[in-house]
Parts: sequence; structure tokens; C-alpha cells
Amino acid sequence: MIPKNILDGAISDAWALVLGIGRRTTDTPGHTRASFGEGEQVAADLVCQFGASNGLDAEHDAFGNIYFLLPGTEPELPAVTSGSHLDSVPNGGNYDGLAGTAAALAVLVATRKAGFQPRRSLRALAMRGEESPWFNMAYLGSRLLLAYGDRTELGQRRRVDSGLTLREHVEQLGFPFLTDGEPVLTRENTACFLELHIEQGPLLEEKNLPLGVASAIRGNVRYPSARCLGEYGHASTTPRHSRRDAVMAAAELALGLDHLWADLAAEGDDNFVVTLGRFSTDMAQHALTKVPGEVNFSLNFGSTSEVTIRQARERLAELIERITAERGVRFEMGPEVAAEPVALDARLIGLLEAQMRELGLPTMRLPTAGHDAGIFALSGIPSAVLLMRNPFGSHNPREHLDEADFALGCSVLARAMHAAAA
Ligand SMILES: [Zn+2]
Repeated sequence: MIPKNILDGAISDAWALVLGIGRRTTDTPGHTRASFGEGEQVAADLVCQFGASNGLDAEHDAFGNIYFLLPGTEPELPAVTSGSHLDSVPNGGNYDGLAGTAAALAVLVATRKAGFQPRRSLRALAMRGEESPWFNMAYLGSRLLLAYGDRTELGQRRRVDSGLTLREHVEQLGFPFLTDGEPVLTRENTACFLELHIEQGPLLEEKNLPLGVASAIRGNVRYPSARCLGEYGHASTTPRHSRRDAVMAAAELALGLDHLWADLAAEGDDNFVVTLGRFSTDMAQHALTKVPGEVNFSLNFGSTSEVTIRQARERLAELIERITAERGVRFEMGPEVAAEPVALDARLIGLLEAQMRELGLPTMRLPTAGHDAGIFALSGIPSAVLLMRNPFGSHNPREHLDEADFALGCSVLARAMHAAAA
């Protein structure tokens, strides 16, 4: 084990790194670290500097992801790996991704300083491009390094703000963007992937717990550009039986899904979610005195259970059929984007919880949103996610992490990495 003073020193250095990167990537409001771009590169440079000043040399892959390796006594064995991403959403918080990256580095730094050499090598990973707003796709860094998806196609995606392709952005950063070749990390060189991340919901705060372990990654079904089409009419003179009111119809659809949610919650299923994040009538045509003829909306529902997702799809189809018949409207759901729920590794979940118990911490399992760990799990590398309390949600400037919770997260991560590397 690492002596406590050495671990504490490495953790406070890593915390200073997180705050330092935050200061250098401040935006109004919050922080902005563009995927494969400006703020992310500031973070990448500071992370490499931090590694170098602690005796850890950075290596890069063809896409700009950064690797630090601390060799074990049997370096030919697959390495125990941890890390997260460097980018943020526009005007996001400072800790989403960055805290987990710094924590993995803290573990390597402390292990090295303590002169401790586990059997397996330890690897810390700082990934690029996890957040979806930049290229309308999430987990690009992990997709590229794991060759999860076609690299040529991924390289053709355009960044929303710059108009440049992902390949062009990677090349601008000085990396070759190789489309051929094998995954950088595989089961042959990677024993497992542990990701420390802030929670993106309120559950740990509600239970007053600093840490929890993700039970699974939620899958979701998303309709970014759905429409309900009815018919415009006079608000005072059109009787109920001849109205084709798009707002009432879309509202009924929303409430129908909300009823399914309430029923699932009453049955004890606490991980279904449904959101209509956009819901608007046509600005050019709507009026106080008009029956609305069109509503544009987004629909996004998810669960860790494939059965529940199937049930929600069925309910959606039933609702559309019934509301269409009863209200004389039409639903055009537009393109669908779906992601399967991802199971996390039961043995690693148990390993993380065992370390928490040994430190006297209560444990809690909770479902989580998507993370790079999901792409590792889908690529066949056993993976788990340790979550840290965050009272104000994420992807917003109020996102928060207590230094004390970060320190606990790093301590659990260090123990778990050492146990997995023994
Ligand atoms: Zn994240």
C-alpha cells in the first residue's frame, strides 16, 4: 500500500492540476474545452507537464489521446487502466471528465513516489472528444482508440462550430489520424478500465453519500426532431369535435409516457427516464387566437433495462396510434438515435465496493449516463465507473465537486487499481 502522506500529496497535486486547468479554460459562464480543439489542448498540455514533472512520460496515439504507463513487475501482462476525458460541453463545469483523468494520474504518481511496483502495469489515460455537442456524437476519443466504429467515417464528422472534420481537427493538433490498424487498447494489453467521474444526477447528494458505484450505463432512444401536425383553426369558433390541435395531442403523448414512468416508479423501477427537452409551436404561425397546427419536439427516454426500453417503445407506438385516431393529427418522429444499455463488470463493481467498505464508506449502486467506460465495456474490456457526489448536476457551470470527495474517490481508485494489479 502507498503511505498515506504520499497518496495525500499526489491527490492534492492532482486537485491543483484540475483547478489550474479550470482557470486556464474559463469561459463566461463556466468552462469550455472544445473536443479536439482549444481548451482541450490546454488541458492536454498541462496534463503532460504534470506527468513529466512527476517522472511519467506521455505517449500519444494517432488521434491525440494521451497515455501514461507505470510498468509492473510483469509488464507483459495486460495493464490496469483508468482515466477519463479532457473536453467539456460549451460553458460546462470543470470536473466532468477532468477529475477522473487527474485521479488516474494521482494514482500513478503516488505509486511511483512510494517506490511500489505492482505485478501488472498501471496505465492512466486522458481522452479527447467525449462530449457530444461538438460533433453531434459522444465518446469520439474512446471510439477511435478502441476502433469502435469505422475510423474513416468518424473522421468525416464535422465539428458544429468550426465546420472542419474530425480528421482535420486531429491533424491540426499534429496527429496523423490513421484509419487503418488495430485498436490501441485491447484485452491483450488492458486488464480492465476503471473510470472515476462526477455523478451527473442528484442521487448521491440526496443520500448524503460521497461516492457510489454505477450499476450499469443507461441506454436511450432519442428523437431529436419529432413533429406533431394538426390543423390551424380559429380559437373561438372551432368546436372540440372538429379541432386537430397539435399542442393538445403532443401534450397527451408526453403525459402518456409520464404515466408509464409513474407506473414503473411505483413498481420500484427507479431508473427509467423520459424527457421532452424541446417543445415548441411555430413562431411564424402561432397566435393566442389560433388552434395550433404544429408542434416541434424532441423525445428522449432511457433505462438500464432493455426490457423497459422495449416496453416504452411499445407504449409510444400505442399512444401515437390512439392519439392520431382520436385527435385527427399526425406524428412524424423523424430520425431515431438509439444506444443500448451497457452492463458493467460485476467483479469490478464488487472490487470497488470492497475498497469503499475497507475505508469505512457506505456503498450505493446507481445507474449512470453514458461515459467512455461504456465504449470500453462494449469493446470487451471489463469496465466499471466510480461516481462522486455533485449537488448541482453536470453540463452546466454550477457543477461542483468537493476536494474531500475527490480525495475519497482517488483513495478508492488507488486501492482498486492496486488490487486489480496485484
Ligand atoms: Zn464526462
